[in-house]
Amino acid sequence: MSLDIERIELFVVELPLLQPFTVSFGTVRSRRLILVKMTDSQGVVGWGEATTLDAPIYKPDYFGSTLDVLQKILAPSILKKRAYAGPEDLDDSLAFVRGHYFAKAALSIAAYDIAAQKENKSLAAFLGATKTEIPLSHTIAITEHPQEMLDEAAKAFEAGFKDIKLKIAPQADLPFARALRQAYPDLPLMVDANAAYRYNDETLKLFKEVDELGFFSIEQPLDWNDLYDHARLQKQLKTPLALDESIDCAHDFEQALALQSCRMLNIKLSRVGGLTESLRLYGLAQQSKIGLWVGGMIEGPTGLMAVIAFSALSGFDYPADFIDSHYLIEGFSDYFDEEPYTLAKGKLTPCFSKPGLGAAINYGRLCQHAPSPIILTA
Ligand SMILES: [Mg+2]
Repeated sequence: MSLDIERIELFVVELPLLQPFTVSFGTVRSRRLILVKMTDSQGVVGWGEATTLDAPIYKPDYFGSTLDVLQKILAPSILKKRAYAGPEDLDDSLAFVRGHYFAKAALSIAAYDIAAQKENKSLAAFLGATKTEIPLSHTIAITEHPQEMLDEAAKAFEAGFKDIKLKIAPQADLPFARALRQAYPDLPLMVDANAAYRYNDETLKLFKEVDELGFFSIEQPLDWNDLYDHARLQKQLKTPLALDESIDCAHDFEQALALQSCRMLNIKLSRVGGLTESLRLYGLAQQSKIGLWVGGMIEGPTGLMAVIAFSALSGFDYPADFIDSHYLIEGFSDYFDEEPYTLAKGKLTPCFSKPGLGAAINYGRLCQHAPSPIILTA
């Protein structure tokens, strides 16, 4: 499906959260997102979304760097070449820029949205995804007291979520993890440290204790760009380590496999630069029998629909953990003109009622408070 890209517009929207969301690297209070509106020469419009945080605390990317590189380098490069054999070709044309994966992901999603519409398919169908139900896990952010965390866990299991991911940090690790396991001796639980620890004797002692709690995974305990220390830690634990922050691309993951740095992988479209690279990681994980799930960055409606389409591929062994968007962003369902999915018993059933991203997203409402867009043309 060839693409001829004529125009790219960048909108900045800020969506307040209903409550702050705290993880080891900081607290998120609202989601400032960059929306990419891409138009091809036949007038087909695709939308994408950059989900960087306001500061470089998850990865080196942040709102300012992402907007800058989109406006000055990536979007002009796409418009200069204009013609692409397909969305993979467009994604790969951006490889000359090192890093800046969140910005690349926004362009990638928009390009795939156009390509799918031109085949009159939903993005999920375009990707070959056929699952009609997506099991969900629930993430519990860092709370001050274990009791708050336990109350939230009780509600999540009651609502039918399949497993719980508990965020941990040095001020809230073992006592919280133990309390959760004691409350639910037999249910699937995991912890995510968001790269809060360094490899040393104290860390090793901590995770050996966590190892005894029988979690199905410990996600990203060590540095955001580390593979070697994760391999050293994995060798000493029974619990599979999952990588998130450490994997930017398929090449990183090949190195992680060679080093045996992890036994599981959390794929986030935003973190790896979009759909082409996500599909490569998915393929590698399937070949290497690595446990796999789809994660999120508290996406807006556009990003979430792309993530849902990708999650409908078969072969994700573990429930997806992107549904925080739905529960945390104020008035989230008001951004859709028709229900984009239904949620019941810890499962998401996508509707995919439209070609492309699959939902009737109300961009007028979404962009109503956005400053004038940045407009770039071929
Ligand atoms: Mg994570």
